[in-house]
Amino acid sequence: MLIGILKETAPGETRVALLPESLKSLLAQGIQISVEAGAGVAAGASDEAYAQAGATVTADRAVILANADLLPLVNAPSAGDQAQLKLGAVVIGFLKPLDAPHALDAAIARPATLFSMELVPRISRAQSMDALSSMATIAGYKAVIAAADRLPRLFPMLMTAAGTIPPARVFVIGAGVAGLQAIATARRLGAVVEAYDVRAAAGEQVRSLGAKFLDVDLGGISAEGGGGYAAELTEEALDRGRDLITRTAAHSDVIVTTAQVPGRPAPRLIRRAAIEAMRTGSVLVDLAAPAGGNCELTQPGVEQTIGGVTLLAPLNLPAEVPVHASQLYARNILNFLALIVKKGELQVDLADEVLAGACVAHQGKAVNPRVAKLLEETAAKP
Ligand code: NAD
Repeated sequence: MLIGILKETAPGETRVALLPESLKSLLAQGIQISVEAGAGVAAGASDEAYAQAGATVTADRAVILANADLLPLVNAPSAGDQAQLKLGAVVIGFLKPLDAPHALDAAIARPATLFSMELVPRISRAQSMDALSSMATIAGYKAVIAAADRLPRLFPMLMTAAGTIPPARVFVIGAGVAGLQAIATARRLGAVVEAYDVRAAAGEQVRSLGAKFLDVDLGGISAEGGGGYAAELTEEALDRGRDLITRTAAHSDVIVTTAQVPGRPAPRLIRRAAIEAMRTGSVLVDLAAPAGGNCELTQPGVEQTIGGVTLLAPLNLPAEVPVHASQLYARNILNFLALIVKKGELQVDLADEVLAGACVAHQGKAVNPRVAKLLEETAAKP
C-alpha cells in the first residue's frame, strides 16, 4: 500500500497532513510513503526529514496522485487532482462536504472513498480524531494574539510610577472550543473577559476560566442542537442576543466572535450599531468569517476599519501557526488512519459509526445522509 503526502495548493495554506514524526507506525506496517517535495517546508518539516524518516520524496505530484492508495490531505483536492486519483483511492481531509458538496463530484465519480474530518462524530471514542477542535483551539488563541497586536492599548492592568493602566475588556461571543481558548488566552494576558453563548451548558466552562458569563432569556427556546452543538435559533431569539451584544460592545475593547451552527451560515449577531458603539481603536475578530461571519459588516478574508474600529475576518488562522497546527492535525489523522489501516492493508468497514459518519462517498455513492441529501437537493436545481 502507498500513502501519498501532497503539498497543499490552497492559497495561504501552510499546514501538511502528516509530519515525518507521524510516519513510524505506518512504515512499521510495511506501508510505502511518498511525499511531494516541499510538502512540509512551511510547517518546519524538510524533505530531508521525511527522507530520513523513511519516505520517498519526489517532485512529481502526478505520480503520487496516480499511485497513492491513501491520501491524507488538509484541504479538499482540486478538481484537477481529483481526476487523477487512483481508482478506489481513499482521500481524507477537511473536504467541506456541507459547504460545497459538488466540488467533490469528480472524486465521487472516480470513484474514490472520501472521508471528511469535519464529519467525524463527536463521540468520546473519536475525540482523538477531532480535528475541528484542534484547529478551533489554535484559531481561538491566535485571534486574541492578533487582537492584542492591533489594539492601541495594553491587555494587563499595570500599576506604575507613571500611573495605573486599567485592563483591557474582551468580549467573547460563542463559548465553544475556539471561544473557550480565546477566553483562556485573553485571561492569561490579563484582560477582563465576558462571554456569551446560547448554550446554557457553556456558562460553567466560561466561569471556570475566570470570565463572566452573560445570559440571555431565550423565552423558553432550547438552543441545544445535539452533539454539543447549538441549534439554529428563530429571529426573535437571535434578536435578544443581538441586543445584549450591542450593549456589551459599548464597553469592550476587543470582541472575538466564534458563533456557528454546523452546516448553516453563521448567525448574524453583531449589528452595525454594535461596531459604532465601540470606541476608536477597538478590535473585532470574526472567527465565523469562513461561514459568512457573525458581524453584518464582515467581508470574509478582508480587513476593514469602520469608524476607527478594526474588523478582522481571517479565513485560516491555523495556517498562521503551521508547526503546531500540523502537529495536532497529523495526530488526528493518524488516529483516524488506525480505523482503516490494519496490518498495512486498507480495510474500510462502514459498519463502524465513526467511519460511517465521516464518510462522504464510497464506491460512487454518497454515504453520510446529510451530504447525500444536500447533493440530491442541489443537483435538482436548474
Ligand atoms: P461551533 O464551532 O459549531 O460553535 C461555536 C459556539 O457558538 C458554540 O458554543 C455554539 O453554542 C455557539 N453559538 C451558536 N449560535 C449562537 C448564537 N446565536 N449566539 C451565541 N452563540 C452561539 O461549536 P464547537 O466549538 O465546535 O463545539 C461546541 C461544543 O461542542 C463544545 O463547547 C463542546 O461542549 C462540544 N464538543 C464536544 C466534543 C465531543 O464530545 N467529542 C468535541 C468537541 C466539542
